[in-house]
Amino acid sequence: MAITPAGSLLALKRRARKINRVLAEKYPYAHAELDFRNPFELVVATVLSAQTTDVLVNQVTKILFARYPDARAMAEAEPAELEAILQPTGFFRAKARNVLALSTRLVDEYDGEVPGRLEDLVTLPGVGRKTANVVLGNAFGIPGITVDTHFGRLARRFGWTESDDPVKIEFDVAELFEPRDWTMLSHRVVFQGRRVCHSRKPACGACPVASLCPSYGEGETDPVKAAKLLKYELAPGNEELLAKLLAETDRAAEIRMESQRRPG
Ligand code: SF4
Repeated sequence: MAITPAGSLLALKRRARKINRVLAEKYPYAHAELDFRNPFELVVATVLSAQTTDVLVNQVTKILFARYPDARAMAEAEPAELEAILQPTGFFRAKARNVLALSTRLVDEYDGEVPGRLEDLVTLPGVGRKTANVVLGNAFGIPGITVDTHFGRLARRFGWTESDDPVKIEFDVAELFEPRDWTMLSHRVVFQGRRVCHSRKPACGACPVASLCPSYGEGETDPVKAAKLLKYELAPGNEELLAKLLAETDRAAEIRMESQRRPG
């Protein structure tokens, strides 16, 4: 997506920050959608989230961490038992191998603890820059931009980058925002990507940042038709869930878990 001719860095920055403010108002309940209680659980959950949904990972990790609560226990796991637990997440043999190797490395090199530095995290088996940034931002409070498929697509549509390369995207977007905003910006943009700005059918006519987006019109612009494309708590019929999330933003992760547990 080309940056607009009038888009000097300053103008781009202003517009980007405005988008972030609008998204903050729209999704005051945005949060990491993987459930975790400590850095170890988050690093494992993020490794497992490759090629599958967070909802599925959350179901699997509940069983996984009840059986293997920390790196020491996980490092001792029987590969076959681990594979059986991880099977629903897909690519379970590779994921079981990574989780075992990761836990063993943590025990051998870091006394069973997850290190809080990017340069150490990226040396762990199965951990790339994206996972490392998720862990730093959410388990250690160190600012990080998490470039997953949603974030990359939206950054291009917003004109924040022209790249497809996650590391380049991360650096392009980092230029536009203060580090203190990086972690929450990542959650908000991913929330927007999952609910409104879908890959194939963006709901432009029901989009909170339509007036700021250079890609407005890439998707459905009719407000009624666009509203039908919205997902999760913004989907038609989910008003009660949305009201609950807005009223209890600090319980958002819990409310989401409850709603995902409900059949249908
Ligand atoms: S206006 Fe359309 S392309 Fe732009 S963010 Fe909204 S849904 Fe996505």
